[in-house]
Amino acid sequence: MVNRRQFISAAAAASTVPLVAQQSYEWGGPVLDIHLHLRPDGESNFAHIEGSSVTRAVLLTRAQEVDRAQALAGNHRGRFVWFVSADITKPESAGLLTKAVKDGALGLGEIKYQVQCDGPEMKRMYALAAELKVPIQIHFGDVPQASGNAVFNGGFKRFDAMLKAFPKTTFIAHADTFWANVSSDYAYDTAYPEGPIKPGGLSDRWLSDYPNLYGDMSANSCNNALNRDPEFMTGFLLRHQDKLMFGCDCSCSDGRGGGQTNPSPRLHGKCIARETLAAIQRISKPEVFRKLRWENGTKLLGLPSQV
Ligand SMILES: [Zn+2]
Ligand SMILES: [Zn+2]
Repeated sequence: MVNRRQFISAAAAASTVPLVAQQSYEWGGPVLDIHLHLRPDGESNFAHIEGSSVTRAVLLTRAQEVDRAQALAGNHRGRFVWFVSADITKPESAGLLTKAVKDGALGLGEIKYQVQCDGPEMKRMYALAAELKVPIQIHFGDVPQASGNAVFNGGFKRFDAMLKAFPKTTFIAHADTFWANVSSDYAYDTAYPEGPIKPGGLSDRWLSDYPNLYGDMSANSCNNALNRDPEFMTGFLLRHQDKLMFGCDCSCSDGRGGGQTNPSPRLHGKCIARETLAAIQRISKPEVFRKLRWENGTKLLGLPSQV
């Protein structure tokens, strides 16, 4: 039998639960971060999602560190899932990636090696991703930057041939060359072009033309695109509202900008997750923002849409 005190406390709990849940959503609802690198101290990953009000994050994990990603996901139920990467220039990579997917990896990524995006190593990975039925998340960097000082998955201009040749592969495009090519006048002279965007860029067209291409909104690259021409990007987000997914690729310690050394004045000392979520929220309607911060990613990865 329920006594009066129990009844009151149960009723109070029931009535406050939705309110509390709502209040705890700083971004108006749950957030999936599809681009958080597994850190040497995994608890720092947890501090980052707590600090930036992210509900769940995809840990980008090297094949050698799968145990650590699994342990972190186990310690914080419902907060982490993981992708896996391995050195694709080595023949054993296919076996390592296949095993990791069988052990629970939900995708291949991020794949960032000094190869061409239409070279034999990547073609092998596109076929593998289709065979394993997981997406492949690719870093496109045609312009060498201070960090890394190399070309990664070069030859972006020719990438549409891969989208055509591998229709069963789900591609998640990321990094500077993908986001710079939102503008049709990209000159490949800098990783982060500034100024107004000229319509008709490759990334914009390919997102429209190829159902197997998705966009990863992480890092300075997407944040730069959002900020260089907010008016154009309002339409871009609306156009591709079912194809874009929030991610951070942030290295700050606490989800509040602590220790952030990104050289861009736009991001220095700030949390990229927070800056990009705020930028998307500023220029998109709530229903579009909801898709980008949560629905598109959970759907693509087969995660429950309810928290
Ligand atoms: Zn990257
Ligand atoms: Zn951060």
